Amino acid sequence: MNAGLKNRGRKREDVEDRRKAVEQRSGSQLKCISFYSFDPIIAEKNIENMIGAVQIPLGFVGPLKVNGDSAIGEFLVPMATTEGALVASVNRGCSVVTEAGGVSVVIVREGMTRGPVFRVEDVRHGLEVSRWVSDHFEELKKVAEGTTKHGRLLEVKPFAAGRNLFLRFSYDTGDAMGMNMATIATEAASRLVERETGATLISISGNLCVDKKPSALNYILGRGRIVLADVRVPADLVKSKLHTTPEAVAEACYRKNLVGSAIALSYGFNAHVANMLAAIFIATGQDPAQVVEGSMGMTTSEVVDGDLYISIRLPSLEVGTVGGGTKLPCQNEALSIMGCVGAGKAKKFAEIVAATVLAGELSTLAAEAAGELASAHRSLGR
Ligand code: NAP
Repeated sequence: MNAGLKNRGRKREDVEDRRKAVEQRSGSQLKCISFYSFDPIIAEKNIENMIGAVQIPLGFVGPLKVNGDSAIGEFLVPMATTEGALVASVNRGCSVVTEAGGVSVVIVREGMTRGPVFRVEDVRHGLEVSRWVSDHFEELKKVAEGTTKHGRLLEVKPFAAGRNLFLRFSYDTGDAMGMNMATIATEAASRLVERETGATLISISGNLCVDKKPSALNYILGRGRIVLADVRVPADLVKSKLHTTPEAVAEACYRKNLVGSAIALSYGFNAHVANMLAAIFIATGQDPAQVVEGSMGMTTSEVVDGDLYISIRLPSLEVGTVGGGTKLPCQNEALSIMGCVGAGKAKKFAEIVAATVLAGELSTLAAEAAGELASAHRSLGR
């Protein structure tokens, strides 16, 4: 068993041996898990103890018209999910926003963060270290960027409490989501801080990053990309395709997304941003755990000149078209459907994701306003 579970050995035979060991020990037959289409060697940086693969149904939505700075035109968007009715609903939203002229999308900030924690002598020492960091930013930048060809250090923000000093490093990570890149670069810069200031690095992640946890910090300052999107849908389109009115959608949005979420003290002021993100993340090889911070979006809606105006603010959209799971063959093919494979495509991809999120928000809010949510799930999801 132990030999079978060795981390090393990603050849197909090694995977088979390991799976057989698991079958033997668990008494389960893993026929479906043993059936996959890619060479395990491709996944060697994505998984340890590989025993096979699970398959998730893949659908698509679109055409979706996007009026971004990098994504311009109509796109088909792949979504992997087991939630019946989700793809149908987002697809309906895509059809409406496309007929309305498309979704406008802007990226207003970029920066992947890592926030190490240092132990300092006392609050005055903490202040001195913070000042040193500010005065020696160019040195830190040189050391951090010495570990990467594509990463660029943008800023370092200090946060102090007692004998704890947190330095939140923020990077432009090009077309990669950038978490490994930022971690490696921050480690190098943190060692320089230790050597020069006497502060002691306790953990390269001090939870002020904030990775894979909901937080006000990411909600306000952003992490990954802050993306805004909006669309104005004519009243007759709301009536004919969504079976409701701009007033009813705007009211549902206000009472649910804003008041309801405020009472719940939720970090997500939205209907179901996590749904669109999870399905696209899984389809395209993003890190699905980062749906946690990605889902902290805000959806707003109002009636403008009789039409429906709806927008989303995604403060923490962490996606890439290089690195992570994006090179796995199925995920790479899914990215290719949108013309988002590889270098130079991350901004385009982020804009398409945000536009899809808006389409999904619109459709669900309209279904709730029209009293159709339960019946749609009853007929499509059960
Ligand atoms: P990565 O797969 O570790 O690295 C991607 C590399 O691609 C970059 O380091 C970069 O090399 C290179 N690259 C080539 N062309 C590029 C381009 N056009 N733009 C940007 N980079 C380019 O990817 P990552 O995005 O840094 O990290 C993602 C992975 O981190 C995921 O698998 C995720 O699950 C995992 N993760 C790690 C942590 C952690 O704490 N380490 C936390 C959460 C998630 P250069 O650096 O030399 O430029």
